[in-house]
Amino acid sequence: MPGFEMFGDEERKNVNDVLESGILMRYGFEVMRNNHWKAKEFETEFANKMGVDYCQLVSSGTAALTVALASAGIGAGDEVIMPSFTFVASFESILASGAVPVLVDIDSTLTLDPVSVEKAITSKTKCIMPVHMCGSMANLDALRALCDQYNLLLLEDACQAIGGTYKGKSLGSIGDLGCFSFDFVKMITCGEGGAVITNNEQYYINADQYQDHGHDHIGKDRGAETHPVLGYNYRISELHAAVGLGQLTKFDTILSIQKRNYTIVRNALSSIEGITFRTVPDGGEENYSFVNFFLPNEELTKKAHKSLSDHGVDANFYWYTNNWHYINGWEHLRNVKSLGALTGSVRHQLERLNNTDFSKSDAIMSRTISSLVKVGWSEEEVILRAEKMRAAIAAIF
Ligand SMILES: *Cc1c(COP(=O)(O)O)cnc(C)c1O
Repeated sequence: MPGFEMFGDEERKNVNDVLESGILMRYGFEVMRNNHWKAKEFETEFANKMGVDYCQLVSSGTAALTVALASAGIGAGDEVIMPSFTFVASFESILASGAVPVLVDIDSTLTLDPVSVEKAITSKTKCIMPVHMCGSMANLDALRALCDQYNLLLLEDACQAIGGTYKGKSLGSIGDLGCFSFDFVKMITCGEGGAVITNNEQYYINADQYQDHGHDHIGKDRGAETHPVLGYNYRISELHAAVGLGQLTKFDTILSIQKRNYTIVRNALSSIEGITFRTVPDGGEENYSFVNFFLPNEELTKKAHKSLSDHGVDANFYWYTNNWHYINGWEHLRNVKSLGALTGSVRHQLERLNNTDFSKSDAIMSRTISSLVKVGWSEEEVILRAEKMRAAIAAIF
């Protein structure tokens, strides 16, 4: 997945453009900046690529989620439904908005189970936030139908599935809002960065203002701008945007290398009886950044994970116990380790996590291994790796 494996002249040239003008800020300084507007350019190109009207670049993926929630008017007391398997940014951004994170089970898509989502809807629910983990998507038609039925917002976290599609549309472009991360380990990186995309003009205007202290960005005198709304600082710097703009030129190449590498690994694993693969909803195409597979039970999964490492195959993730992406690992959340006081409704909801039944998620996560697909591997290297993986797993049966 990591786009940094492809760093080269494109990134260097864009960064040099910015350094030579000396204007590291994305706004203002028009005379001095030699016509370089890297953040603006990135936004235009990325919106085109995703097939949406608007893109707002921000300082991180976590910031993108926070800005997206704010731009849609989500705040104190509102409930946002999110999956039990995700990156911590999901609940961090919801908490930052003052809203209440409501964690629900996943299914074999490895993200939100629509049946569990519907059960969690209350009169306070405002938003459903699927997180397209490890390169593939939630059942977006089912979630959209729930949003329509209950008048909720659909916010896609597509940070790990950039380039994947659902029924011909880019992931992130299907919900009311979509979010991306360009942190250092993502498929396209700015070093640090993120983006919100939408077709809703008002959400875009809100996002543009909110991420820059409420500035209206009208006219050429920043000091004279008005502030229609309260905001915050989630701006990206021009230097980070410059790196991302260089990376964007490699988007299609990275995707096609990932697909080739993924296919080699998947074909090798398919030959093992007992291995099944993560469900991709009808009409969906992954971005091929991970091969996600299931073993028949927890014990065999742990053995397979250990055997892969014993055979010298790196970058295989057993999220159920080893990593920081599942409810099991979020002790700080369950025990409400907040530095400052939280509102009663948030605290109450978090405390409930200790008594919530996540056995449906456990049954899937305890059998899931995700194997990272790197971009830097040559075809020969992947073939060797795939064969090693096949042997390592076959050995445990
Ligand atoms: C990386 C990631 C984020 C957050 O992105 P940062 O840029 O690191 O803040 C959010 N959600 C998911 C699913 C991610 O993988």
